[in-house]
Amino acid sequence: MTITESVSKRERDGCKGCSADVRVTDEQIQRLLSKLKPEVCVSDALYAKRLDACGSCASLSYGTTCMHCGCLVQVRAKLKDKGCPHPRSLWEVV
Ligand code: SF4
Repeated sequence: MTITESVSKRERDGCKGCSADVRVTDEQIQRLLSKLKPEVCVSDALYAKRLDACGSCASLSYGTTCMHCGCLVQVRAKLKDKGCPHPRSLWEVV
């Protein structure tokens, strides 16, 4: 990639660090989720609650990425040892 191409991406996407390359498909997310061991995952019900909170959060970008931590929420929400990085910890109030 040339510097000119990089600038063009930045101008198109409005973010100096991100580009269309950060958009993740459902298939890619499912592939990541399939690698998680059950013992590190939350229940399906809690997972759904967390994703509901993310779905209505202003900090969600591209439908996948949390702007506070940069994580893919579909993966982060699945993990027992992860919390919502929002200052008000939005997963705790759902
Ligand atoms: S701040 Fe919390 S609720 Fe909002 S997108 Fe990030 S993880 Fe989800």
